[in-house]
Amino acid sequence: MPELPEVETVKRGLEALVVGKKIKKIDVYYPKMVLPNESEFIKALTGKTILGIDRRGKYLLFHFNDQQSMVSHLRMEGKYSVHSHEVPLNKHDHVVFEFTDGTELRYNDTRKFGRMVLIPTGEEYTVAGLKTIGPEPTPETLSVDYLVETMKKHHKSIKSFLLDQNMIAGLGNIYCDEVLWLAKIHPLQPTNTVPLGKIVTLRQKIFDELTLAIKAKGTTVFSYLDASGHAGSFQNQLHVYQRTGKPCERCGTPIERIKVAQRETHFCPFCQKLIKDDE
Ligand SMILES: [Zn+2]
Repeated sequence: MPELPEVETVKRGLEALVVGKKIKKIDVYYPKMVLPNESEFIKALTGKTILGIDRRGKYLLFHFNDQQSMVSHLRMEGKYSVHSHEVPLNKHDHVVFEFTDGTELRYNDTRKFGRMVLIPTGEEYTVAGLKTIGPEPTPETLSVDYLVETMKKHHKSIKSFLLDQNMIAGLGNIYCDEVLWLAKIHPLQPTNTVPLGKIVTLRQKIFDELTLAIKAKGTTVFSYLDASGHAGSFQNQLHVYQRTGKPCERCGTPIERIKVAQRETHFCPFCQKLIKDDE
């Protein structure tokens, strides 16, 4: 699933490719993908110009003239690409926005889990998922105080806390494993028992890691591509994710894989020790 760095990369690519373009026609080949329904979606956006694109967590927010916006979540396999009208469609292209300049924005999704929600501009945060989304992981929006207060109330594993979009926006399986390794915290550590010093370190590692990953245009695992069809390169800088059995870069201990919160979780059993309550 694309996480914050991948969605940010898609956003930046799309900004360069489609902002300022006017929609001539919209073809929806999988009606369930657009909300509230196909006819309203097409009627509201045809003839509109894309004014800008924002990102919040893993969501893309497209803004059009006439106070129309579209909230888009790529879920597992969603991809946007821009082509000339002459290029034949792929069989997994489910929504196509044809522009007046002869190019098209195509949304491709082999799993069909992605959704696009039409919503008046200014009401984006009433859309499910965005309504309860946690702070954006930047130094300005994710404070130490917020983490201390929120983590105190969370008794499940730190991995499940980090995965929860209502706690912090944007992190998924890959970056959770990476930041926990960087901060030397066991993925099963109960969130409310993470010491203050580790919380401060974890927060900083989240910022550092996401910045690096955005610079590398995201991680390409499975099929993620940016809006121009290029793969990201951050997979070459991963420390634990999908490195089961390989030596930890810090201590040489083989990386282990366990299931936490139903997700494959990678960690170093030597660097990331579980802290017991009585220690
Ligand atoms: Zn290690």
